[in-house]
Amino acid sequence: MDSVRSPIDLVLNDAPDRPVFCFRPARLEAAARWFRDVFPARPFYAVKANPSAHVLDTLWKAGIDAFDVASDGEAERVAQRFASAELAFMHPIKNRRAIARAYHEFGCRRFVLDTQGELDKILEATGQARDLTLLVRVGVSNQGATLPLTGKFGAREQDAPALLRAARAVSAELGVSFHVGSQALSPPAWHTAMADLSRLIVAAGVTVDIVDVGGGFPGHYGGLAPPALGDYAGVIAAAFDDMKVLENAALWCEPGRALVAESESLLVRIEGTHDGSLYLNDGGFGALYDVVHERWHFPVRALGASGRIGGAMREWTVYGPTCDSADRFPEKLALPASLGEGDYLEFGNIGAYGRAMAGRFNGFGEYETVMTRDAPWPSLYDGDPLAAAPDTVTALTRG
Ligand SMILES: *Cc1c(COP(=O)(O)O)cnc(C)c1O
Repeated sequence: MDSVRSPIDLVLNDAPDRPVFCFRPARLEAAARWFRDVFPARPFYAVKANPSAHVLDTLWKAGIDAFDVASDGEAERVAQRFASAELAFMHPIKNRRAIARAYHEFGCRRFVLDTQGELDKILEATGQARDLTLLVRVGVSNQGATLPLTGKFGAREQDAPALLRAARAVSAELGVSFHVGSQALSPPAWHTAMADLSRLIVAAGVTVDIVDVGGGFPGHYGGLAPPALGDYAGVIAAAFDDMKVLENAALWCEPGRALVAESESLLVRIEGTHDGSLYLNDGGFGALYDVVHERWHFPVRALGASGRIGGAMREWTVYGPTCDSADRFPEKLALPASLGEGDYLEFGNIGAYGRAMAGRFNGFGEYETVMTRDAPWPSLYDGDPLAAAPDTVTALTRG
C-alpha cells in the first residue's frame, strides 16, 4: 500500500478484480485524537475490531499506546510491533497457556476476570504474580445496544462483592469493568451501569483503583445514526464523579468500533446482473458480514467507467460471491438502474469488523488495500455528521 489513490481514480484506471479496502488515515487520526484528547477515559484500543498493520501503526503514531487484546495471538501481534505498548488481556475466560505467554513473553500485567475459577487460573498461570492489575467484569444491562453482549460474560450482581474482595487481596491494583454492548446508542446506559457498580463496590468494602467503561461506542451507519460522541463523554465523566472509588482512580475505556469504523471503505465489483439481481465480488462471508447477518445499512455510492453513476434508480436484490444462498443482502438496495458488469459499489465506514470478519469460504476473501485522502462518508468527528456530503447517503438499503 504505497500509493495514494482515490476510489474513483482506481475504478477508472485499474478496474480492480479483487475487492479493495480504501484506507483513510486522516479519519483514523481524527478518531484517535478525539479519544486521546477529548474523551475522559484512557483508551485501550480493542484490537479485534481491525487488527491490520496499517491501522495499528496509524493509531500508534496518533498516540494510542494501550491495547485491549483477547488472545495471545493479539497480544503477540501488538507486542511485536510496539515494544512499549501497554496490554490489557480483556477476555474473561482465557486459555492458561495464553495467560502465561501474555505475562511472561509480552509483559502483560492487566487481566480481566468474572469468576473465582478464572482468578485462580490467572494466579497459577503467572506463577502467583503479585504485580497484577486485575479487573472484575460485572454483568450490566445491554438495553439500548444494537448488538447486546449480555449473558455470556460478567459476574452476577450477587457474586460480584465476594469476587471483588478476593481479587483485591491478590492484586497490585484493582479495577472494575463492564460492557454495555456494541453499537450502543444510549449514553445513559453508562450512567446506569456505573451507578450499579458503585453500589457493588460499597457492598464489597474494597478500594478500587480503576474504572473501565468498556467499548460499545458507535459508528455512523444508515438507520443507526448515533448521538454525538460528546454526549457519551459527558455522561461518563459525570457518572465517574459520583462513583465511590479512590480520589485518584483512573478511568479507562476499550473502544473498538468507534476508533476504526470511519478508517476504511470497501470497493466491490459488480460481476454480473440478472433479472433485478446484482452479484458482487464480496458479501456475507467477507467484509459485508454485518450487512448480510445483522441487516446493517452502510452508506454506499455507485462508481463506473464515467465516474459517479447517477440517473434513474431501481431496487436491486444484492448477492455476495459465494455459492451459499445465504450470501444475500436481506433487504433490497436502491441504486442506479443502469448498473452492470464492471461497475463498482463503495461501502463507507466499514473499518470496524469488516476486514476482521472476512473468511476464505469458496476461495474468496482476498483483498487489496489502497490509501486515499477523499472524505465522502458521514463522520462522527466533524461536527454535524449528517452535514457531511449528504449525497453519499442517498442509496442506503431500505429498512
Ligand atoms: C469487542 C470488545 C470491545 C470493543 O467493542 P466495540 O463495540 O467495538 O467498541 C471492548 N472490550 C471488550 C471486552 C470486547 O469484547
